[in-house]
Amino acid sequence: MSYEAHFKVWRGDADGGSLVDYTVTVNEGEVVLDIIHRLQATEAADLAVRWNCKAGKCGSCSAEINGRPRLMCMTRMSLLDPAEPVVVTPMRAFPVVRDLVTDVSFNYAKAREVPSFVPPQGVGPGEYRMQQEDVGRSQEFRKCIECFLCQNTCHVVRDHEENKPVFAGPRFLMRVAELDMHPLDGAAEAGIDRKRGAQEEHGLGYCNITKCCTEVCPEHIKITDNALIPLKERAVDRKYDPLVWLGSKIKRR
Ligand code: SF4
Repeated sequence: MSYEAHFKVWRGDADGGSLVDYTVTVNEGEVVLDIIHRLQATEAADLAVRWNCKAGKCGSCSAEINGRPRLMCMTRMSLLDPAEPVVVTPMRAFPVVRDLVTDVSFNYAKAREVPSFVPPQGVGPGEYRMQQEDVGRSQEFRKCIECFLCQNTCHVVRDHEENKPVFAGPRFLMRVAELDMHPLDGAAEAGIDRKRGAQEEHGLGYCNITKCCTEVCPEHIKITDNALIPLKERAVDRKYDPLVWLGSKIKRR
């Protein structure tokens, strides 16, 4: 069954903008991205929106729908009250380029700051052996589609631009956790201390495990429970390990 929905879509650019009202037809089975495309096809040809797969796998169509960070392609219109306006705004934590498109380059800069996997010395690529538990952990984290909804939601940066230089955000702290818990990662032998890096370079201490990142993850990755909390435990263990403490004292002499 079709009906006429009231949409309020943020239109504007880096200099400012406002919500613009549209009345648009909604058909059974449609998602919010379908309606945005209908607007482009009918009354707002210049409405800017980033999208690609329309299947919840490319992570492009992130936005805020009625104030909640979501993928537009995975938000069914049937979930929303047809009597209420549907408010679609760009992600709030990143600078607006135009309309619903934001500049997410903050995330790419943070990605570059995380040292990549260091292949173990003396083990050929075909000789890697891992316990299924370790494989499963990496697989969960690698389901990430880099929609950056968790980065957008995290209160450490959402309304605190000043924290961005010192905080990598949940997506990239999860990357650090994945590599730090990877049984074949040879970073330590190569002189890379991922736990110290998490604390001192990627801002792990700013995270107070409120789980808002986990709540919005469209891949249902347990970011807080399975990545951030274990990484905190590992970093703290290292910091208060009496042998590490003794070693640092001896080194300082
Ligand atoms: Fe998106 Fe989840 Fe990856 Fe965060 S962890 S960028 S919410 S898929």
